[in-house]
Amino acid sequence: KSKQASVGEPYWFEYSLLDEIHKRIEIEKKLPKALEHGEFELYFQPKGNISSTPSLAGLEVLLRWNDPDQGMVPPMEFIPVAEENGFIIRLGEWVLRESCRLAKRWQDEGYPKVTISVNVSAVQFRHPQFIDVVENALRDSGLEPGYLELEVTETMLNDPVVIKEKLERLRSQGIKISIDDFGTGYSSIHYLKTLPIDILKIDKSFVQETPLSEQDSTLLVSIIQLGKSFGLTVLAEGVESKSQLEFLAGSGCDLIQGYYYSRPLNRAAMEQMFKDSMNSGLIAGLS
Ligand code: C2E
Ligand code: MG
Ligand code: MG
Ligand code: MG
Repeated sequence: KSKQASVGEPYWFEYSLLDEIHKRIEIEKKLPKALEHGEFELYFQPKGNISSTPSLAGLEVLLRWNDPDQGMVPPMEFIPVAEENGFIIRLGEWVLRESCRLAKRWQDEGYPKVTISVNVSAVQFRHPQFIDVVENALRDSGLEPGYLELEVTETMLNDPVVIKEKLERLRSQGIKISIDDFGTGYSSIHYLKTLPIDILKIDKSFVQETPLSEQDSTLLVSIIQLGKSFGLTVLAEGVESKSQLEFLAGSGCDLIQGYYYSRPLNRAAMEQMFKDSMNSGLIAGLS
């Protein structure tokens, strides 16, 4: 495999490209069995409210795959593959159903009632049955629609008319819509004007160098103000330090998410965090 480039061979990097293709094919073959064998697991990353008294504002569901051969496979390795071959339709439905079921169960067990947000891929969202899938997940779990949030990305919003109708139907039932990774697409600002959304999640790339970089800080403040001027709830992703948190709180940002508050947690760790917050009445990592 570590063959040297030689005359007559077009490009040396074809070998690593081939490795990449083989890896994708491997993953593609394994995905259906992984679902059957229960190798997928939901993790939860808390979102914190920083606009008033610090509090737990919700949880984002992040998918993990425990592959028996490779260990934990990050979503960026298998989700694009699943999107390409359509498996994301089944996988995404599983994530939605599991998330709603667990959220309802937590409510029934007396944990704090929080919104659970689920990432939706473009392929999933465009599928004609998507609304039915969401409605069934809610109905079968008994979760009230107001506790479900769907995270969509700008890149999927390339068909504004159809998208708008779908988003409106979801929102009319009380489901919340957030735009994920905001600022990384091409026509971010246009969507603010045209689409029915509730929450703007500012991509972590705008947060990373803040407050050290004056330029990034200025940009971040502008995006927060832009979101607020459209009446949206604004969340900053990828908050890793106290100085970032303080900067955001001082800039009118409503919610934060990131390692500084909490890493994504497995179910047991999430339940422990619920218990700790109920016992102390305080949310660690937010103040
Ligand atoms: P995302 O929805 O933007 O999720 C945020 C990502 O940032 C997560 O990566 C999270 O672990 C990571 N993160 C959180 N806090 C910090 C921080 O302080 N610093 C840094 N550097 N990173 C932070 P993860 O879990 O690897 O997920 C990556 C992406 O995979 C997600 O980006 C989302 O687009 C996708 N994804 C995850 N789960 C699902 C799913 O169930 N369905 C779909 N369609 N996509 C999913
Ligand atoms: Mg997300
Ligand atoms: Mg994001
Ligand atoms: Mg992201």
